[in-house]
Amino acid sequence: MLRIFLDTLDEGSSHVDLTTEADDLTSGFEGGYLLSPVKASLEVNRTGNEIIVTGTVSVRAVVECARCLDEFVLELESPLDMVFLLGSGASTGALPEREGVIDVPSTATYLDLTDETRSSLLVLLPLKPLCRPDCHGLCPKCGTNLNKGMCSCSKEDVDSRWDALKRFKENL
Ligand SMILES: [Zn+2]
Ligand SMILES: [Zn+2]
Repeated sequence: MLRIFLDTLDEGSSHVDLTTEADDLTSGFEGGYLLSPVKASLEVNRTGNEIIVTGTVSVRAVVECARCLDEFVLELESPLDMVFLLGSGASTGALPEREGVIDVPSTATYLDLTDETRSSLLVLLPLKPLCRPDCHGLCPKCGTNLNKGMCSCSKEDVDSRWDALKRFKENL
């Protein structure tokens, strides 16, 4: 769980390192999964009831290449930027609701960063991940992964092209 426990949090700024299992963040990841552990390196600034959390979360995601369908590991790092308001009066109207501010009940013992972290990681996932920029993909005929070597159909294609050329020359 990506949680900051409030009783450990002093007034002012402090550095917090968090580690969690990937399972806590996987929901919503389609066509891939995350490897454990997920690490967050955070600067936490507490001023009264307001807690500002900034930092980065880094994770390794296993995704499928859009061209050759091979699985490969993608390193993702996302900046985190959150503002928590403890025991906020937003719901009672005592304080105006601020955009991007996460209200935390005064009875809370921790801040949960899981949802925010998950959504910032999801944004980073490419729609068509490529195992490498020049991935050769699969042979459309036999499905051979052309990164791992040529298949015989591409040879046949070349041969038949030569045949056509030969026939062309013969007819000259
Ligand atoms: Zn590929
Ligand atoms: Zn082939």
